[in-house]
Amino acid sequence: MAAEKIAVTRATFDEVILPVYAPAQFVPVKGKGSRVWDQQGKEYIDFSGGIAVTALGHCHPALVEALKTQGETLWHTSNVFTNEPALRLATKLINATFAERVFFANSGAEANEAAFKLARYYATKRHSPFKSKIIAFHNAFHGRTLFTVSVGGQPKYSDGFGPKPADIIHVPFNDLAAVKAVIDDHTCAIVVEPIQGEGGVLPATAEFMQGLRQLCDEHNALLVLDEVQSGMGRSGKLFAYEHYGVQPDILTTAKALGGGFPVSAMLTTNEIASVMAPGVHGTTYGGNPLACAVAEAALDIINTPEVLEGVAERRQLFVEALEALDARFDLFSDIRGKGLLIGAALKPQHAGRARDLLNAAAEAGVMVLVAGTDVMRFAPSLVIEPTDIAEGMARFAVAVEKVLA
Ligand SMILES: *Cc1c(COP(=O)(O)O)cnc(C)c1O
Repeated sequence: MAAEKIAVTRATFDEVILPVYAPAQFVPVKGKGSRVWDQQGKEYIDFSGGIAVTALGHCHPALVEALKTQGETLWHTSNVFTNEPALRLATKLINATFAERVFFANSGAEANEAAFKLARYYATKRHSPFKSKIIAFHNAFHGRTLFTVSVGGQPKYSDGFGPKPADIIHVPFNDLAAVKAVIDDHTCAIVVEPIQGEGGVLPATAEFMQGLRQLCDEHNALLVLDEVQSGMGRSGKLFAYEHYGVQPDILTTAKALGGGFPVSAMLTTNEIASVMAPGVHGTTYGGNPLACAVAEAALDIINTPEVLEGVAERRQLFVEALEALDARFDLFSDIRGKGLLIGAALKPQHAGRARDLLNAAAEAGVMVLVAGTDVMRFAPSLVIEPTDIAEGMARFAVAVEKVLA
């Protein structure tokens, strides 16, 4: 029997998908580099990068090649068996970072879930089952499982789902005194994004990160860095912690790790990993050969001086263009972030208009992101062509003129 041909449009979304998203009015069907085309053939420049995921643009030839080759070789085995791409990727991540052990999963939330469970388990095994307090930060985002929304701590994501995991405390970001006031010997971990992404593209200060490391050491607590968004070259270093002169105990990475193929990883040390044993934690798909082969290809390209140094040059082009827009239209109170994770905070007179500007930008042919109601966020490909930055910014200016001028 021939497969039924189903015609789909944006309206189909409202009929068939669980209404937890409000996607743009156009449906992308094709991408190449930093350009995307919709069902009508309209072209967009992509400054959104699939939310900091497609770090090498769309359909990068090396990633396509890795996917095809592995796709014709071996897709999946489960963790009842190991596989070569996972072992190679783990080795390369270890060689490139502080880490000595890797756990693979499929999404940022799952990597964080593993990290939080490991931090609690390590404290239980090495210290005491009562050493369970997790310190996290206001406006944090760590994913959508019940544990990760609880550590994230934003009521809009965590309320309405029944009892939450207990013993999690939230204090203001970049406020070391607030952490000092709540940390004690019952604290198992401090969980922090080196650059808060969803929370408004806010980098941690060096003083804050170094202070957190010191407080963790004083209280036998683990420093858990959520680099799901800030990692894999986004900040101009492979991982953002390298900017701060501190080493984490546990680090999570996802988004750009697979360049668009779903895969995540939790990195840690031998000492912390040593409390784990077969069966204590796991996943069916995590470390899947297909995912790991693509991630290995992405890491091979991202972790090179050419790509990492190119991030700073491209950031400069974005910042100059945003400053020029600001000079023309008096738009932004702050242009911030690190590398190609860029936040442009709207001035009070434009408060609440970020989503309108995003929609107008799409209309004008450029895909951008927001972080909250007042911050425009840009997370383009790390290898975006300078000409695409210029063209995309020209289109963004058209949107600004239409919505805010
Ligand atoms: C996106 C994100 C997550 C969640 O990742 P998913 O793949 O959506 O589960 C967690 N932490 C941070 C910092 C993120 O940006």
